[in-house]
Amino acid sequence: MAPMSTVDLPLLPLGRGTDLNAERGVECPGDLPVPSDPDLVARARAAKEALGDRVFVLGHHYQRDEVIRFADVTGDSFKLARDAAARPGAEYIVFCGVHFMAESADILTSPDQIVVLPDLAAGCSMADMARLVQVEDCWDALAAAGIAESVVPITYMNSSADIKAFCGRHGGAVCTSSNADVALEWAFGQVPHAKVLFLPDQHLGRNTAVLKLGLTLDECVVWDPRRLGGGVAPEELAAARMILWKGHCSVHGRFSPDVVDELRRKRPEVRVLVHPECTHDVVTRADLVGSTEFIIAAVAAAPAGSVWAIGTELNLVQRLAREHPEQEILFLDRSVCYCSTMNRIDLPHLVWALESLGDGVVVNRVSVDPDTEHHARIALQRMLDLPGRSHRD
Ligand code: SF4
Repeated sequence: MAPMSTVDLPLLPLGRGTDLNAERGVECPGDLPVPSDPDLVARARAAKEALGDRVFVLGHHYQRDEVIRFADVTGDSFKLARDAAARPGAEYIVFCGVHFMAESADILTSPDQIVVLPDLAAGCSMADMARLVQVEDCWDALAAAGIAESVVPITYMNSSADIKAFCGRHGGAVCTSSNADVALEWAFGQVPHAKVLFLPDQHLGRNTAVLKLGLTLDECVVWDPRRLGGGVAPEELAAARMILWKGHCSVHGRFSPDVVDELRRKRPEVRVLVHPECTHDVVTRADLVGSTEFIIAAVAAAPAGSVWAIGTELNLVQRLAREHPEQEILFLDRSVCYCSTMNRIDLPHLVWALESLGDGVVVNRVSVDPDTEHHARIALQRMLDLPGRSHRD
């Protein structure tokens, strides 16, 4: 009997070399500076200056301040990947973000540029909720149900490179939270009676389909990869227009409609501003919904004295509060919760990555294999070819 693959086990025997992808970052292959080192800031500055134009440091909006201060550019994942591609002279791209973002940067940069993620344990729980083997099983089930030919897969930028490549191979595309509606309109126009398989964030898919395209909640079904047949009855699948993958962001999923209702009772002047990765109940109660770039722009444009309750990652909300003391900015949750994987990138890891590069040692390289890269790039290009709208998440 063939040995059981550990790839499909719900629990992974971490650290035993059985699934190198899942085990990435479990151990740091080097001597990390201790967090209490009082020279960390000076060391980061010196290492970056020594590398000069050979290194380009990218910082996602959800990163810690101690890291973001060393970023050459800040932005959302897609902007950062494009910023990296616009710097072909940089030998090293140090991506202060999470793994799928570094993969996208590797896909969009030239083969001789090296992308480094300072801590390989900086993954994304949402991206990890859709694994290729699960998505292929789903596709086989859709084929068995006789509907695969009318299904167009769309994946959110927040997905692994192999899921983007899957979409590229099957006539689909990537989308961001800014262009998800345009991507869905495009997908529904690809084949007669089209259905969309939306990966991996059910909330972005549902919010976009219902609030932007006017579909009903009944036209959306949720495919649970852990249940037989996705947990969807054949007649529901036949009637559905949106097949939503059962994935979510563990950070944005925390915001609750109860808190919005309570805030409105106590502070009627508050404006609720949330990211579309929040649940449908929260998004339908908000005044404004949009990407991280949209949230930043909305606050920047607001008059002094505005009161905001913001539902997105806490590092960004705290930064907005510091940058806009003329406004009152509240976090839309009772408990303090950062994105734990974004927070994996700290100053010790950044110093270690930069100093290693300065010593001629490449650490924590993120590299997408050529075949995956080819097909993922097709899906990304289909997004870039969509009409109008900036491509931001
Ligand atoms: S905030 Fe959510 S979607 Fe973004 S990296 Fe963290 S877990 Fe992933």
